[in-house]
Amino acid sequence: MGFLDKIRSIAAGRKHARNKVIVIGADGMDPRIFEKLLKEGKMPNMRSVLERGGYSPMKTTIPAESPVAWSSFATGMNPGKHGIFDFLTRNAEDYTPAIAPVSVKVKALGKPEPICNRSGTSFWKRLGDAGLRSTIIRVPVTFPPEKFNGRLLSGLGVPDLRGTWGTSVLYKEGEAAVKNTEFGGVEIELKKDDDGFYRTEITGPKRANSTIPLKIIVQDGRANLSWQENTLRLAPGEWSNWMPVFFEISFGPITVRPKGIMRFFLHSANPLKLYLGAISMDPKDPFYPVTQPSAWSKELASEYGNFCTLGWMEDTWGLNENRIDEAGFIEEAENFTSQLERMVLGIIDEKEDDLVVAVFEATDRNQHMFWRCIDNQHPAWNEAESKRWGDTIYRTYERFDSIVGEVSKRLDEKTILMVMSDHGFNTFRRAVNINTWLRNEGFLNADPSECRDDWSLKDLQQGGKFWPGVDWSKSRAYSMGLGKIYINLKGRESQGIVNPGREYEELRDEIIGKFSKLVDPQSGKAVVSVIHKADRIFSGPRVPHAGDLVVGFNIGYRVSWQTALGGFPAEVIEDNKKKWSADHCSVNSDFASGVLLSTEKYGAFDESAQSEGREPNIMDLAPTIMRHMDVEIPDDIDGVPLQEK
Ligand SMILES: [Zn+2]
Repeated sequence: MGFLDKIRSIAAGRKHARNKVIVIGADGMDPRIFEKLLKEGKMPNMRSVLERGGYSPMKTTIPAESPVAWSSFATGMNPGKHGIFDFLTRNAEDYTPAIAPVSVKVKALGKPEPICNRSGTSFWKRLGDAGLRSTIIRVPVTFPPEKFNGRLLSGLGVPDLRGTWGTSVLYKEGEAAVKNTEFGGVEIELKKDDDGFYRTEITGPKRANSTIPLKIIVQDGRANLSWQENTLRLAPGEWSNWMPVFFEISFGPITVRPKGIMRFFLHSANPLKLYLGAISMDPKDPFYPVTQPSAWSKELASEYGNFCTLGWMEDTWGLNENRIDEAGFIEEAENFTSQLERMVLGIIDEKEDDLVVAVFEATDRNQHMFWRCIDNQHPAWNEAESKRWGDTIYRTYERFDSIVGEVSKRLDEKTILMVMSDHGFNTFRRAVNINTWLRNEGFLNADPSECRDDWSLKDLQQGGKFWPGVDWSKSRAYSMGLGKIYINLKGRESQGIVNPGREYEELRDEIIGKFSKLVDPQSGKAVVSVIHKADRIFSGPRVPHAGDLVVGFNIGYRVSWQTALGGFPAEVIEDNKKKWSADHCSVNSDFASGVLLSTEKYGAFDESAQSEGREPNIMDLAPTIMRHMDVEIPDDIDGVPLQEK
């Protein structure tokens, strides 16, 4: 910042009492569950926040997905401007799916370079330009970390050391291993050698196909592991500490040594069943920077201990496919939460920042995985498991409330506290195969004998060949990602056949008309709540790749995992029997609002605000915080400061 700007900002600070702001986010905190627990007296700390200021459900983005909503939080912009429309996008060149928030530029020499696909300027960068300092912790879609006046630890979007969004491994003795699982896990079958050792391997970065040997022997009911220079002894039911590992990969003449940290969990010693969580980049020496400034991750690790740098930390995939059990999953999620809590409170205690933003994710992960234990209509409902795990979601909310309590103790009269979530939650009982429907209705020409229904994240992460049996010269529409229908448009899709203009519009109307009438044969109920035309709900330069139609289902329905990857299961609608039993993606966003609490009062908290359409919107937070901190709000922001609503 220049000298004159400094004078100006000091002068502005004198004129108005400039506030400091702390934002604590709970990914996926749902207003209905929050209000229920509030009534029961179980949210004492959030109650005192809302009694000082106020509370309201908060409108989320369309669609209600974390990467989309947090990008609108960061920029105050609609997705048409920031360009993140889904977890997944599709490549118009070859119709393959790709991870939307981050892409990787492969170079002839040297290591590949990750690129953040979010456009638009974050409000912490704008605050920095006005001379204010921020610390931003684990906000999704902040990888690679951007440069600004402050510190940032990246969140959702940071890959594991393999370059995936988190691949865990189960080493199993004497059971046929499932080779390719839908959620990208790996199972490895173990056989004991004559000398009593099990010899297997730990897999490193996928591009280099690098592995290192792992040796295991069971003695006195414990597993003794050795790899590289390390040894480890584990009892059944025990998690290891973070353990070091490194690999060696060459890019042409350049050799690099990516370093990781990893944790094992021993299910049983006899037969041997050993779990290895996703290998996190080592925060003390990460393969790619995960903080801004880049050396900060090392300082954090020396102050708070080794920590997981992976964006999606909790092994939801592993629990879904029983590589890890409920108790192990909950314990691990709490480990992440308590370490992050210590970090966040330590940073607040430094009192060096004008703004602190921190996002906790256990609320989201535990709702995804344990909703089947609070919904007795769910296909995965089980009385015994419900008795055992039915309070997990509520306890996760109470745990988050205790964090809000710790933060509240640290507030001075200048500091405003906002507590918020990016979206809410709903049960996910039935999965909808949109591509199967498009094929049945003649919009998508696919030879059923070649169509696949077993796509996995591994295909996505390792470049599988998608869409076998599809004749693009006879296909007018297809679905990819979480509820997007793309028109096979001439001039945009590489083998497009639909003319822009009238033909495109008529086709969109035809699909909306027919798909809106879809009825669940099991219940006779309507499946689809709303289908948006992307160009009517988004505005900005990135709208052409938003997906032409954005589907919002009724409560209980979600797009199937297979549709997300371009698959065709036989039935259009099928039961969801998985532990991943609740969701927010592809449901009508009106049913998936998040929450906002603040120690400040806003008109948008009034009882009448919701019926008058004045309730807070996640895009409003960036301009609201800028107003609190007396920084001018630029014209390209779509949100409205809540002080004006
Ligand atoms: Zn979620």
